Amino acid sequence: MTKTSPPSIIALDGPAASGKSTVGLKVANALGYLFFDTGIMYRAITWIALQHDMDLNDGAAMTKLAQEALIDIRPPSTSDGRTCDVLIAEKDVTWDMRSGDVDANVSVVSAYAGVRQALSAQQRRIGLRGKVVMVGRDIGTVVLPEANLKIYLDASAEERARRRSDELIARGEQADYDTILKKIIERDRIDSTRAVAPLRPADDAIIINTDDLDAEQVSSRVLELCK
Ligand code: C5P
Repeated sequence: MTKTSPPSIIALDGPAASGKSTVGLKVANALGYLFFDTGIMYRAITWIALQHDMDLNDGAAMTKLAQEALIDIRPPSTSDGRTCDVLIAEKDVTWDMRSGDVDANVSVVSAYAGVRQALSAQQRRIGLRGKVVMVGRDIGTVVLPEANLKIYLDASAEERARRRSDELIARGEQADYDTILKKIIERDRIDSTRAVAPLRPADDAIIINTDDLDAEQVSSRVLELCK
């Protein structure tokens, strides 16, 4: 019997809190692949801009920042739910990336063509090495259209808001379901209506609705599709 290898480049896209990171990490670990969460890069740029009180409406400034910022991503140093360590200027900012402020502003920053160009060029360079599960909004459509397997995870906004509030509570943080739901809907709206690389499934993506599935079940389904 001939043994086929799993697809070398796996693109995993979907809206906010659709479970992409949890599933992507599980699949990458099962295959021994690199897990690359591209949302971290957009979040990092937004976080730096907020830290320095920069004008997020200044596309040229945001683009320059995306071209010059040094974002370091390393394997997780502690097991507190993180998928990796994110360091900026040697400071561990992993959880700062997930703050409400970043959530509320990241879609504005990620909509600039210049920001996308700078970050997606880096993502593509890394992705083309293969043996990678890359997670984002435009991986199957723009960053790695040649991906051998494209998955688009979807779930209702209500289910995603519920999962996000459970996550926050598990981390000991405050979570107001209605506010989270509103923010998720707004982020989806901006991400899917922007002019450049909007959130949408690639024509050849397999869409998995995860409303009634847990992360384990979704990962098993993706691993099945890898066979
Ligand atoms: O996936 P996550 O929720 O961490 O992504 C944060 C934001 O980064 C998204 O809402 C979107 O605006 C942006 N993003 C993007 N393209 C990607 C990944 C993330 O525009 N490939």
